[in-house]
Amino acid sequence: MTPTDLREFDDPMFRLAQAQFLKAAGIMGLDENICERLLWPQRTMVVTLPFRQDDYHEVETVFGYRVQHVLTMGPTKGGIRYHESVNLGEVSALAMWMTWKCALMQLPFGGAKGGVCIDPTSLSRAELQRVTRRYTMEIISMIGPDKDIPAPDMGTNEQVMAWLMDTYSQQVGYAVPEVVTGKPVVLGGSLGRTEATGRGLVYLIQESAKHLGIDLSQSTAIVQGFGNVGSNTARFLEELGVRIVGVSDVSTGLWNENGLSISSLLDWVRNHKILKGCPSGDEVSNAELLERPCDILAPCAMQNQITGENAQRLQCRMVAEGANGPTTLEADAILNERGIFVLPDVLGNAGGVTVSYFEWVQDTQNYMWTLDEINSRLHGIMTNAFRRTIIRAERDKLDTRTAAMIEGIERVAQAKLSRGLFP
Ligand code: NAD
Repeated sequence: MTPTDLREFDDPMFRLAQAQFLKAAGIMGLDENICERLLWPQRTMVVTLPFRQDDYHEVETVFGYRVQHVLTMGPTKGGIRYHESVNLGEVSALAMWMTWKCALMQLPFGGAKGGVCIDPTSLSRAELQRVTRRYTMEIISMIGPDKDIPAPDMGTNEQVMAWLMDTYSQQVGYAVPEVVTGKPVVLGGSLGRTEATGRGLVYLIQESAKHLGIDLSQSTAIVQGFGNVGSNTARFLEELGVRIVGVSDVSTGLWNENGLSISSLLDWVRNHKILKGCPSGDEVSNAELLERPCDILAPCAMQNQITGENAQRLQCRMVAEGANGPTTLEADAILNERGIFVLPDVLGNAGGVTVSYFEWVQDTQNYMWTLDEINSRLHGIMTNAFRRTIIRAERDKLDTRTAAMIEGIERVAQAKLSRGLFP
């Protein structure tokens, strides 16, 4: 199969993931057979599931997915996304990125991802619970602590992970906390997991600033997305003295040149759910916010935000990707040409899966690590991957995304060659 023969995987995000991979594979001279093998996910499951709405007579049938990209490295690992855009191609792209991310971080996992094509913001708590339990039952043969370990992603959170853990545990007859990560601490969740993606991104923004000679205490940032990743990124940047001049969510963008108070925005969102109507700043559109001047632009919401259309107009010094796939290949070329530093998703947002790995280790070994232990291990793993990426980028004259991906792909290719081909 060739990348033009996408069939049921066809989706702009999967095209992007394959194109990024083929670019890196070509530069590193990856073995052709391994290249073709890694271009496609190894296992996929498509399910349709009925769930009863609160109105008892309404039963909706929705699509769900679980995709495992590479089973060579150990169990597979990856989040579960609830969003109306979810399809097989999108989930497969996210699974492929998880493979490179885990390998870059040197974690003993292959990449996976799952999702349900549904708008979670339209569901009551009871509906969310029912859809989660039914989805878990549909994919239960694929997941397990030694097989495939889900985690939260867009539209899901620690409560959803608790229901998933409970559903799995009910089936086997005893508690299995290690089947999922990102669950509440009382169920065996890890300290620091909820905020780990934002924390990891900010650790690497600090490293990038050192690398570029930027004084963070004198700099400004715009954060797109105010969910788990975006709000924590904004919070940790603010703690470092960065002035947050813009934030956004699905409802609006907010701009305040004097700096927004993140704790006030968090209070507002706790009470109103969305940023719209918040008096802390002027309302601007999401598209416009990306193009406002700042030092650090952190896309932490959706894919496909920085494109060939708007990359030329960005006014930042660094793009720090909290979201998966926010930048297209055309935009990458423009950013590189303009000398804008990119902290790519597979590196920048890897804090989440790294602390998920810590959670899985603690659950399987019955350890309880302190928050300081978690954060210092996270810092060590992330800065090490950052250093390897920068050294490779400078040595081989590569953009940072390609350098980070090659770090990951090389490890997977070596593992595949060591295991050999069955039969
Ligand atoms: P979330 O559901 O907690 O938050 C998503 C945020 O994005 C919300 O504020 C929502 O309003 C906003 N949003 C949605 N559509 C938007 C749009 N078109 N424009 C602007 N804002 C929009 O999700 P999250 O967990 O923070 O995930 C965000 C991104 O980070 C995703 O790409 C996800 O794959 C990636 N990511 C998440 C984790 C994690 O640990 N949760 C780890 C790695 C990567």
